[in-house]
Amino acid sequence: MNYEAVIGLEVHAELATRSKMFCACPVVDLTQAAPNSAVCPVCAGMPGTLPVVNRQAVELGLRVALALECTPAHTSLFARKNYFYPDLPKGYQISQYEYPLAETGRLVIQTREGEKTVRIRRVHLEEDTGKLTHVHPANRDAYSLIDLNRAGVPLLEIVSEPDMHTLEQVRAYSIGLRAVLRAVAASSGDMEKGVMRFEANVSIRPVGSDQLGTRVEIKNLNSFRTMERAIAYEIARQSEVLDHGGKIDQETLGWDEDAAATYSQRSKEEAHDYRYFPEPDLPPLVVEPQWVERVRAGLPELPLARKARFERDYNLPASDADLLSADASLAQYFEETVRAAEPEGVAARMTANWILGELFSWINQSGEGLDKLKVRPAALAWLLGFVQRSEINLHTAKTVLGEMLRTGQTAGEIISTQGLRQVSDSEVIAGLVRQTLESNPDELKNFLNGKETLANWFFGLVMRSAGGKANPQVVRAELERQLAERKAK
Ligand code: ADP
Ligand code: MG
Ligand code: ZN
Repeated sequence: MNYEAVIGLEVHAELATRSKMFCACPVVDLTQAAPNSAVCPVCAGMPGTLPVVNRQAVELGLRVALALECTPAHTSLFARKNYFYPDLPKGYQISQYEYPLAETGRLVIQTREGEKTVRIRRVHLEEDTGKLTHVHPANRDAYSLIDLNRAGVPLLEIVSEPDMHTLEQVRAYSIGLRAVLRAVAASSGDMEKGVMRFEANVSIRPVGSDQLGTRVEIKNLNSFRTMERAIAYEIARQSEVLDHGGKIDQETLGWDEDAAATYSQRSKEEAHDYRYFPEPDLPPLVVEPQWVERVRAGLPELPLARKARFERDYNLPASDADLLSADASLAQYFEETVRAAEPEGVAARMTANWILGELFSWINQSGEGLDKLKVRPAALAWLLGFVQRSEINLHTAKTVLGEMLRTGQTAGEIISTQGLRQVSDSEVIAGLVRQTLESNPDELKNFLNGKETLANWFFGLVMRSAGGKANPQVVRAELERQLAERKAK
């Protein structure tokens, strides 16, 4: 049977606040700070303490919600999600359940088949748990370490509708969501540090069916690659089960990287297992419309809007616009170069080509970040001006850019000290062509006898005799003219 996969993602992102969700403890880097050094009675779950909502976390959550075109709730509620685990000192997690911060938005993603909309079901605030490290010494009993520095760090959960059907869509959604988180400065989205984490809900159904199959939920996926492998595995496993007349159990799965397989953690918990109830220690969270409008007005341009603007205003093909708009600092570099190069008559499309071509290949080879490049937008624009005015040819320009990137010298300096200015003078070029033809009489005879491909060979010779600096169009035209003249004789 042919199946279609149905995938919905739950994404957790740590918000980039200075302090925790419900106390004044600082948010620290787990890899840097000493374990349990940023903990107070509130986030350690001591009885008798009281939580206080972090306003900045709400504001960042609103930024994300609005960027995803969600409708923020005027009043949302915090709830207790009760369960026991050693990394959860209170015995419950404060989350939002029936009344989330915002609902019903969407994220438009880019795939090879074009744009696709993935609906967002809800965006809500909650707190992170502590971090357990399990140690298995060779000659002692295993034990576990607990670091509560992460307990109480603000988390935003973004839940999609089950609108994705391929791994490509899952990847585009995840990348797009991370770009939004970064664009609105709500989260670093850093997956290596566990700042952004995924849970994937996966089911399959016969192609053409519009009913949802029984789903599994794969927990704790920490990179795009792991998530894609786990989802691909699940799609194959479920197809196999259904093909053999079996049925899918609704369960919670983990991903075993070494075995490259999912494994069952538990049968799917139901909401009632958690005994959700409104958090009695916190008042309802009220977000007045004025606050929403202030946040909305402060949002920066989002990657998708920027892409559309690049296509429209700079006449870029969609793929170029996509690449140049995804990252704010790259987009800024591009636009500054365009602005500086415009007075020289350089088209934005030419600037885009140079950045995506020569500059990207330098960045890939050198590993140098865009912000570290010795060539700043104004310097690149100056170089492009030389090309635009045909003062240097393309080949020379690439060499000059390489030198600029290595040494930080300007195009003007390199071109004048090395005498690289292109020869466009038609008399000089006519002389070079004549000389070249006359010093190769055998080849000239072969050409006149019909070996037309020799024209290219002559072209190469003329360019070489000009030290690579001749204007290729002028050379080509002059060479054709002189060859035709000799043919006519
Ligand atoms: P919970 O995991 O807390 O039970 P939901 O029932 O709201 O929460 O679903 C969570 C996620 O599962 C959502 O992203 C949703 O899109 C996705 N989902 C729901 N049903 C299916 C299904 N049959 N197949 C794939 N994903 C699904
Ligand atoms: Mg879930
Ligand atoms: Zn604390």
